[in-house]
Amino acid sequence: MSGAAPSLTPFAGRRIAVMGLGRAGLPAAERLAAWGAEVACWDDRPEARAAAEAAGLPVRDLAAGAFRFDALLLSPGIPHRLPAPHPVATRAAEARVPVLCDVEFLFAAVRAAGSGARFLGVTGTNGKSTTTALAHHLLRGAGLAAEAGGNLGPAALSLNMLGDEGVYVLEMSSYMLERIAAVRFNIAVMLNLSPDHLDRHGDMAGYAAAKARIFARQTPQDVAVLGMDDAPSRAMAAGIAARLVPVSGVAAQPAGGIWAEGERVLRDGEGPILDLREAPALPGAHNAQNAAAACAAAFALGVPREAAAAGLASFPGLPHRQERVAEIGGVLFVNDSKATNADSAARALASYERVVWIAGGTGKAGGIAALAPLFPRVAKALLIGRDAPEFARTLAAHGVAHEIAGTLEAAVPAAAAAARAGAAPVVLLSPAAASWDQFGGFDQRGNRFRALVQALARVEGRAA
Ligand code: ADP
Repeated sequence: MSGAAPSLTPFAGRRIAVMGLGRAGLPAAERLAAWGAEVACWDDRPEARAAAEAAGLPVRDLAAGAFRFDALLLSPGIPHRLPAPHPVATRAAEARVPVLCDVEFLFAAVRAAGSGARFLGVTGTNGKSTTTALAHHLLRGAGLAAEAGGNLGPAALSLNMLGDEGVYVLEMSSYMLERIAAVRFNIAVMLNLSPDHLDRHGDMAGYAAAKARIFARQTPQDVAVLGMDDAPSRAMAAGIAARLVPVSGVAAQPAGGIWAEGERVLRDGEGPILDLREAPALPGAHNAQNAAAACAAAFALGVPREAAAAGLASFPGLPHRQERVAEIGGVLFVNDSKATNADSAARALASYERVVWIAGGTGKAGGIAALAPLFPRVAKALLIGRDAPEFARTLAAHGVAHEIAGTLEAAVPAAAAAARAGAAPVVLLSPAAASWDQFGGFDQRGNRFRALVQALARVEGRAA
């Protein structure tokens, strides 16, 4: 087929219930209806239902009346299993209707159109979005027709149809991986595994099992890129049928592996790909793992080494993940608003020798106590949001200079002043907390920070 929209109707007459009409669900329902499916949609939020109605979609309470469907497309955020399955998911289970995610439908549509477009899936506890965006950047840089989406957006069913030469680069959350059936990833990337979302998956074994599904249905013709930097990830190697490419941010790897040695990313038998000091958007050892994984995926798709190196160097980075916003009077302002827990903030703190740190919001269990080994890097902390007093107590106990600023509006100028007075060359927003107490999400928090910094830059300097 060509890259044009399909004239086929792969889902003609199929009855598909769509539960959850958010960022992924609404475009999915529209696309499935356009592809000939009989769609019925629902969302527990009236405003989401109104949006679907405005789009001309049939809206119907899926918890009431007969449940006669061929599939339930359930938003990743809605649980379908114990301990707290959504009632609509329970109805699907009782009616033996498969619960699927949008990637399943994209895969089915692409294959029904006769396209051999390849599917590259990326999962892991941390680094999914960065690795997805980076792999996409490397592929595009090498001239491949690639589309990126999934968990980080755009949603799978908002992506264009691709022909045989195309590559879908899809960020897969564990929730999405639990809801695929026929999808086979030609290249599957599993970065790392640490305790997260255990409320949904029961325990670490359940979480690992969900992540390992990225390798399901792979054959020896496929490629499995596996992060080797933690034990639960390493343990997955035993169950992999595809050609294994081990990757690491810290340790040399055997047989075709890719890893970082200091700042240099190397490939087994070939030597350095790039010194990451030439890749400003990929600071820190965690990004060395992401870079190694993205290179492994790109090589599996035929990208030459020089093109991969050039792509690493030119990667612009993702917003809100150690995003370099501006340099004002010798002080670098970094927006890491995505760091909604201590683990993520640790990565950012570890990337800079000395920082003025803006943190706080709605903290997770344990607060910032686990960050104590990194406190010597903090010249001063400016605290915002609901849990500022708790964070302040932790910092006080370790003798770290700090101040409760309350809001970002107060924290940014105070941090700039402290940095300029010689405290540190970097102002880092890496909150180690969710943002819901003050913002509509980490992206809004990061956008606000960026706007405040850019306003400072206009007055005092120039944007980096
Ligand atoms: P995800 O999409 O999995 O949430 P992101 O790429 O958005 O991951 O990165 C989120 C944060 O996680 C980053 O700001 C960084 O602090 C941390 N991180 C990124 N990559 C890794 C990695 N490979 N290992 C550990 N932590 C990472």
